[in-house]
Amino acid sequence: MDLYEHQARQLFAEHGIPVPRAEVTDSPKEAREIARRLGGRAVVKAQVKTGGRGKAGGVRLAADPAAAEATARQILGMDIKGHTVNTVMLAQPVDTAEEFYVSYVLDRAVGGFLAIASAQGGTEIEQVAASRPEAVARIPVDRAEGVTSAVAARIAHTAGLPPQTADVLVRLWQVLVREDALLVEVNPLVRTAQGHVLALDGKVTLDDNARFRQTRWGAQAEAHPDPLEAMAADRELNYVRLDGEVGIIGNGAGLVMSTLDVVAGCGARPANFLDIGGGASARIMADGLEVILADPAVKSVFVNVFGGITACDTVAEGIVSAVGRIRLTRPLVVRLDGNNAARGRAILAERAHPLVEQATTMDDAARRAAELAHTA
Ligand code: GDP
Ligand code: MN
Repeated sequence: MDLYEHQARQLFAEHGIPVPRAEVTDSPKEAREIARRLGGRAVVKAQVKTGGRGKAGGVRLAADPAAAEATARQILGMDIKGHTVNTVMLAQPVDTAEEFYVSYVLDRAVGGFLAIASAQGGTEIEQVAASRPEAVARIPVDRAEGVTSAVAARIAHTAGLPPQTADVLVRLWQVLVREDALLVEVNPLVRTAQGHVLALDGKVTLDDNARFRQTRWGAQAEAHPDPLEAMAADRELNYVRLDGEVGIIGNGAGLVMSTLDVVAGCGARPANFLDIGGGASARIMADGLEVILADPAVKSVFVNVFGGITACDTVAEGIVSAVGRIRLTRPLVVRLDGNNAARGRAILAERAHPLVEQATTMDDAARRAAELAHTA
C-alpha cells in the first residue's frame, strides 16, 4: 500500500527526519487559516498517490493566505493522472539551495535492498536517470548490517551528496525497517540556503504482508484503490483486475496464468485474473462470478477448471447457484475436466442458464469466449 505524502512525512518526522511545518485540509477556507498559521506564504500540494504532481500543476506557491485559499480551490478537485485531488497539504515554503534524490527500495532482481541517490534530485529525476545514469548511484544495502553512520557516509559520498545528509540516510533506513516499508523515497531532499537538510516530499510503500502489525493504516479499501479488487478482497478472492474484455476464472494460479495466455493467443484480452484455488466451494464460485460480472468491460467469461482436489460437480453447483443469485447478462463458456467432470457437465447441461455454454478443451473454450467477446 502506498501512503500519501502527508502520511509519509508524518513517519519521517516520527523518525527524526526534518520536514517543513505543514497541515492538511479539504477546504479552501481552512487553507487560508492554515497559511496564516504558517506565516502567510504556503506551498499548496495536491495529495494524490502519484508522482509528477509538480509538473501537473498540483504543487503551487501561494504568496499570502488569500492566494492560498484560491490555489487550494483550484487544486482541490483536479485530476492528476486519473487521481482526483480530495485533500491538499499546505507546507511552509523552504528556501532551497540544492535538491537531492534519495531512496531505499527492495530490488527483487538483486534479491536485496538498494540505496538509490543522486545529487541531481527534483522533478527532472526521471530524465536524469535516463540520459545520465551515472548521475544516479545505486548501492546495495546489506539488510543485516543496515544503514549505519558509516554506511550512510559512504552512500552520500558515492552519490555526491554533502556529508550532512548522512543523518537523514540513517533515519530513512529506520523508517523502512520499523514501518515495514518496501520503498521509502525523498525527492527532493534539499539543502536550504541556511545549510539545513530537509525532506520536501515523501513516498512510502508499505509491505501489505506486514499489515497485521501496522494497524494504524487500517482500511482494507485503501490497499485496493480499484473498487472491484476491494470487493474481491472482502470475499477473500485472489483477483487482479486487468483491462481486457474476457473475464477469467480458474482453479490454481498456474492454470489461470495459462488461461490468460490461451485467451490472448485467440486475439482477445483478459479482463482479470481470478484464482478460485484448490478446494473451491460453490460459494467461492458464486462470489467470483459476481465480482467478474460487476466489471462492465467484461463481454464474456471463461471458467476453466481442472478438477483435482476441487470436484467439477461442486464447481458446476457453484455456477448454477451463482446464476440463480445474480442476473446473468453476459455469456459464460465453461470447460470442466478432471475429477467428476462428467457429473459437472451433466449438472450444467440440465440446470444452467441459456447463456452458459460448455466446451471440452481449453483451446476450444478460449476461442469461443474470444468470439463471444468480439460479437457482444
Ligand atoms: P512531485 O512533483 O509530485 O514530486 O511533488 P514535490 O513535492 O516533489 O514538489 C515538486 C517540486 O516543487 C519539488 O521538486 C520542488 O522543486 C518544488 N517545491 C516543493 N516545495 C517547495 C518549497 O517549499 N520550496 C521550494 N523552493 N520548492 C519547493
Ligand atoms: Mn517529489
